[in-house]
Amino acid sequence: METKYNKEDLPFLSVLPEKHQENDNENGNGRLKQSYYNFFFDAENDTGDFLLFNSLSGGFAKVPAANVEVVRRILDDPNGFDCNSPDKKQLFETAKKGGYIVKENVDEKAVLKMMSMLGRYSTEQFHLVILPTMACNFACNYCFQQEDTGIMSLEMQQALVKWVETRLKVANQFQVGWFGGEPLLGYKCIDYLTGEFKRLCDKYDVEYSAAISTNGYLMDEKVIDRVQDWNLRHIQVTLDGPPDIHNTSRLLKNSTAGTYDVLVDHLVKLYEKHPDFVVMLRVNVSEESIKHVPRFFDNLPEVIRQKAHMYMAEIYQCSSFLSADPTENPSEKATPVKNLTGHAMRKKMTEMNLMGAKYRKKFPCSEDQGRYERYQMLPRAGYCQAQYANQFVIGPHGGISKCPVSYQNELKIGQLHSDGTATFNLQKMAMWMGGDFFERKSCSKCKMLPTCMGGCTSATLKYPETAGCAAPIKEKEVTPLLAMLHREGLYGCG
Ligand code: SF4
Ligand code: SF4
Repeated sequence: METKYNKEDLPFLSVLPEKHQENDNENGNGRLKQSYYNFFFDAENDTGDFLLFNSLSGGFAKVPAANVEVVRRILDDPNGFDCNSPDKKQLFETAKKGGYIVKENVDEKAVLKMMSMLGRYSTEQFHLVILPTMACNFACNYCFQQEDTGIMSLEMQQALVKWVETRLKVANQFQVGWFGGEPLLGYKCIDYLTGEFKRLCDKYDVEYSAAISTNGYLMDEKVIDRVQDWNLRHIQVTLDGPPDIHNTSRLLKNSTAGTYDVLVDHLVKLYEKHPDFVVMLRVNVSEESIKHVPRFFDNLPEVIRQKAHMYMAEIYQCSSFLSADPTENPSEKATPVKNLTGHAMRKKMTEMNLMGAKYRKKFPCSEDQGRYERYQMLPRAGYCQAQYANQFVIGPHGGISKCPVSYQNELKIGQLHSDGTATFNLQKMAMWMGGDFFERKSCSKCKMLPTCMGGCTSATLKYPETAGCAAPIKEKEVTPLLAMLHREGLYGCG
């Protein structure tokens, strides 16, 4: 049995520099117990092999059929286990190394809570989602974004630069996500702010990177030429399926002309200029549209199919995490979309994700495939930016929020002022940051808590009285999903 960690994938574990961490399990003293966060289950590959996953350590191991009973005994009674052969000793040591057995006096939940706090309140990483505008050139029939035609003024941009400077004095990484509305309507704003951010990052020796979520329509040659200057790590573009499906939902404002061909053409040109660029190709799916995804893959130009990271996103996924009313649509303005929330839909989406992953040739390493699902099962300090103290969303008029899809006035936590200072409403901030998911009934005993940290805060704020599980992958779905990823060779372990 070999156990696997992807250390570089575990921001949670790297909160404390390794030299300051002691691994209590390695000193050999004290009694041991099985970790609460273990999943030990049949690999479902007709061989009798089992898989062992620990959501707290991120450890993942294949246990060959011949060793299943021995490993079960180690887990059930580590103190009574007799390491009377080199093989048994090796299995026992691996169980310790993977965090599958831990010291008896360790309060795993207390450790988890402390690590979460350290990560969530760290100032080392400063992360902003900037909305240069809330306006959009598209009128998608399900969109929740609100109408606001203003682009961030130069005065507000300069204020933002001043405020960012105060934060960079204590950070060592600065990450920006350009979002909207359609952020490329604010091309000049992005260009100006990027120049200023890079200047400040040079001054304070801070690492700068950015990403952009765009509908792709304005991603013309001028933008493609700026990809490196803007330090973009990746671009997220959305296609909703093959042309006939996409063109019914993602329309230009005041036009019935389809947008599919333009977006695909822009992506092809992007790859011509930057062959190694990372494109996250989001495919919004509903119960109705997901059946068209295989046809969508077939129709894509080869270069996109082989290089883009394609992943399914359920329309209105945040509301559907809490499945009190799975057909409820959070926008009164938008056309209702019927979603098959729950396990069946997520299973279907995973199957489509795996189908997309198999097309990818650029990264032959299978580790990079099944990325979305693997990411959902890695331990972390907080689920998303909403839970981190040094991560904010800045709107075009300086409003500060915690979540780009909950950018309504009543949910804003603060305001950036023209002199470069910011004020915060502590009560509103507490709504986002003060909730204790360690104490929430549905989460406190959940074995996925280390990887999920209570899930989407926006969803739990929206549905406090029904607040159940706000995670995209529920506890009972973990073992079949891991078995499937392992069978497909998309989640490696020894
Ligand atoms: S709170 Fe929910 S909707 Fe907002 S960024 Fe986080 S996961 Fe997304
Ligand atoms: S949101 Fe769901 S998966 Fe996440 S910790 Fe809570 S109960 Fe578990």
